[in-house]
Amino acid sequence: MPLTTSEIQALDSAHYMHPFTDHKALAEKGARVITRGEGVYIWDSEGNKILDGMSGLWCVNVGYGRKELVEAAVKQMEVLPYYNSFFQTTNVPAVQLADRIIKLAGERYSHVLFGSSGSESNDTIVRMVRHYWTTLGQPERSVIISRKNAYHGSTMCGASLGGMSGMHAQGGLPIPGIVHIEQPYHFGLAPDQDKDAFGIEAAGWLEQKILEVGADKVAAFIGEPVQGAGGVIIPPKTYWPEIQRICDKYGILLICDEVICGFGRLGAWFGSELMGAKPDLMTFAKGVTSGYIPLGGVVVGKRVAEVLIEKGGEFNHGYTYSGHPVACAVALANLDLIEKEGLVERVRDETGPHLAHCFAALAEHPLVAGAETFGMVAGLVLMKDKHQHLAFDEDLEVGMICRKHCFAHGLIMRAVGDRMIVAPPLAMTKEQIDEMVRLIRLCLDATLQELK
Ligand code: PLP
Repeated sequence: MPLTTSEIQALDSAHYMHPFTDHKALAEKGARVITRGEGVYIWDSEGNKILDGMSGLWCVNVGYGRKELVEAAVKQMEVLPYYNSFFQTTNVPAVQLADRIIKLAGERYSHVLFGSSGSESNDTIVRMVRHYWTTLGQPERSVIISRKNAYHGSTMCGASLGGMSGMHAQGGLPIPGIVHIEQPYHFGLAPDQDKDAFGIEAAGWLEQKILEVGADKVAAFIGEPVQGAGGVIIPPKTYWPEIQRICDKYGILLICDEVICGFGRLGAWFGSELMGAKPDLMTFAKGVTSGYIPLGGVVVGKRVAEVLIEKGGEFNHGYTYSGHPVACAVALANLDLIEKEGLVERVRDETGPHLAHCFAALAEHPLVAGAETFGMVAGLVLMKDKHQHLAFDEDLEVGMICRKHCFAHGLIMRAVGDRMIVAPPLAMTKEQIDEMVRLIRLCLDATLQELK
């Protein structure tokens, strides 16, 4: 006999500790049990069909139920389910995937170091850039500059690089040697300022921080091309070229966290390509396997790889699952699918512009003070009075009210404060975007009604 929903919920509450969850609150309501997925839809244990506007957690880019990925995993498990890449061994899928990623990333890069998640990849980065500078005889260059409200994962380094105050408050973070500057959030920080001028000013905060810390002590700057978990913060187009200029001026390594933006989400293989940035290192995870199996890593630029390989000796770092053959085989099948279906080009030329068009129309809703999209990420800002730029009282938790209506209407949308965000599967069609936007409108109406 399969377990009933309430039996699953009781077991869940008794034994399963969820990520980022208030368990007391969860126990009162009971978790929503997701049982299957197909295309851009998921179903819960009560049989409700839900349009997944978030691709799981920004990762199920090719959509659910893709047989090609399942077959790739089965085939590889039969041949070689596991072997490590320690002690001068390797495996074929890992080699092929590294080669494939380098070809996609371009000639600035030469190597890939694999892990199993975005957090691990960002942990790797901290050790790698410090080892790089030490190898070059500059061990004092160890400080990494990141941004407030950034998200780079949950490990000690990942959460320290991230700029989430709630995360820093738990576990004594950030760890030493990681400092933060303000995020380039035009709408939130300087809505009346010219956007391009704001982009230059926001990048200038990096230079100020470099001078404050001392240029000879700064190892690297890290940023997401578009901040995802922070609420889909899309920087002005002037921002990243100016960040690049500043990094070049002081010889500082530039790291782009492509965990969300990589593998097509913004309409290019890597988001930084579209931003006018030339990172020395890129971290990735999520979309590389469309979330079907855990895999992440670091794409290492020649500037860093050549020093590490020629002069760095053994890099005492790596994971049991670095280059996991099954994960790499699934990633290869995922990249095949993305290429075969032209998903990156589709986001760039078709679905991305369509989403932008639909969100521009949503901006006319009385609750919506701002609507922004980039490829297949989008955000709406809800405000009490959009004409006077008046925010809702935080205690009202308007975003959470809206999210509740989304669930009730069979739509997954995420609330970050009063920003409502989506990152749908790249495989979503224009018709499905229309369906999603129709549901969003209904949820906005229901939220407005409840607030009256
Ligand atoms: N970096 C970014 C930009 C992310 O959005 C995330 C996760 O959402 C991470 C890193 C951490 O990835 P993971 O949860 O796989 O450790």
